[in-house]
Amino acid sequence: MKHCVIIGGGIIGLCTAYYLSEVGHQVTILDQSDGRTGASYINSGILTPSHIVPLAAPGMISTGLKYMLSSSSPFYIKPRLDFDLIRWVWHFYKSANRNHVKKSMPIIERLNSLSSGFYQDLHKRGHLDFHLEQKGLLMAYKTNRAQDQETRVVLEAQRLGLKVDSLSPKEVFALQPNIEMAIKGAFQYHCDSHATPQMFMSAMKNHLLGQGVSIVNHSKVLELHTQGYSVNSIETASETYHPDEIVIASGVWTKSLLKKIGFFLPLESGKGYAINVNGTTGIDLPAILMEAKVAVTPMHGFTRFGGTMEISEINSEIKHHRVSAIERAARSYYPSINITSKSLDQAVSGMRPLSPDGLPYIGRVKSFGNVVVATGHGMMGWSLGPVTGRICQQIIDRESPVVDIAPLSLYRHS
Ligand SMILES: Cc1cc2nc3c(=O)[nH]c(=O)nc-3n(C[C@H](O)[C@H](O)[C@H](O)COP(=O)(O)OP(=O)(O)OC[C@H]3O[C@@H](n4cnc5c(N)ncnc54)[C@H](O)[C@@H]3O)c2cc1C
Repeated sequence: MKHCVIIGGGIIGLCTAYYLSEVGHQVTILDQSDGRTGASYINSGILTPSHIVPLAAPGMISTGLKYMLSSSSPFYIKPRLDFDLIRWVWHFYKSANRNHVKKSMPIIERLNSLSSGFYQDLHKRGHLDFHLEQKGLLMAYKTNRAQDQETRVVLEAQRLGLKVDSLSPKEVFALQPNIEMAIKGAFQYHCDSHATPQMFMSAMKNHLLGQGVSIVNHSKVLELHTQGYSVNSIETASETYHPDEIVIASGVWTKSLLKKIGFFLPLESGKGYAINVNGTTGIDLPAILMEAKVAVTPMHGFTRFGGTMEISEINSEIKHHRVSAIERAARSYYPSINITSKSLDQAVSGMRPLSPDGLPYIGRVKSFGNVVVATGHGMMGWSLGPVTGRICQQIIDRESPVVDIAPLSLYRHS
């Protein structure tokens, strides 16, 4: 049995704790927050085998430049004179090509499908009480352009064995008769499921506490002290820990922690927003509103509208014009939806940890043999939590991982 300290109590940290404690390790999770906020709580909850295309794809650079001219656009890179950002954009640019997309699609699909299976398994085991439904995902479009764009993805998805149907607005209405959508059509991916993030997070934490895992909130890791080829102590304001193994699953903050031990990881943060609408909206099917890039999820007791990818420095500021843009998009696709000003005032934000090529980073730091890093999951971190947790456990136990982790190497941009 080893003592493992996990820095970060988001979805990646909790799932890692789950699999480490399951095989008998002693686990401590340190988190700087109150353990109730951030990307892992406010995300759209969609388990995404359908999302086979990485963010770095052909056309994203020109789309990004075009969107930068509009303050309410769904994708935005805030210009800043920062060497880290310049390096990240360079790696993003190098990855935004067909060859990279072709190579990445089967990797992303495999990770997502495995992780979806792990969620189903956690649900079936019954020791975690959380909401999980498999109703697929609608990619709903209004324009020919979006339809053509998604048609190309659908062909690739079908080649990978995913079941996708093309639906007319009437067919969508037949499946979701309590609300009309103003769309030209939709593709329905049958493989996706959805969950209510805060419900899962709190069920998981209760389970972990019951298994003897220690979860310490308001506990920011300030220093990592090294000795030879390992990090031998972790310092917070009030405690010093001497673990055998360390997992850095600190989301967008991972880069600054790694800098403390002299390792640079290209990682930026992509802020997104969520608006919750309580009660019944008539929306039964999760959807992506394609032109607006807004995700809509019927959760346990409320509907969540999530969107925006704002690449900026780490901050939790709510930009009201972006929240309004999500609300406008919701009304344009669901003309009868009513989003109150209270819901808008209570909009929340979270930061996605973005690698430049859209693949996560999972692996050991070479220079310090007891440090494992798991981050960079971008738009798929919720989906990939369980598979990442399992892989981290397998790395620590020196087992062969469930997938080949070479493409996820921390050193692939060096
Ligand atoms: C609007 C929105 C919608 C999304 N929708 C989806 C979706 O539908 N499906 C999907 O798969 N993904 C989705 N995502 C992405 C997903 O939410 C993220 O990829 C995922 O939550 C990242 O999890 P994480 O554990 O890596 O990071 P986080 O959740 O950010 O957790 C990292 C934790 O580390 C802690 N920490 C950081 N530094 C320190 C330190 N020095 N000391 C101690 N603690 C520290 C932080 O407090 C934080 O709690 C969405 C994201 C957003 C913003």
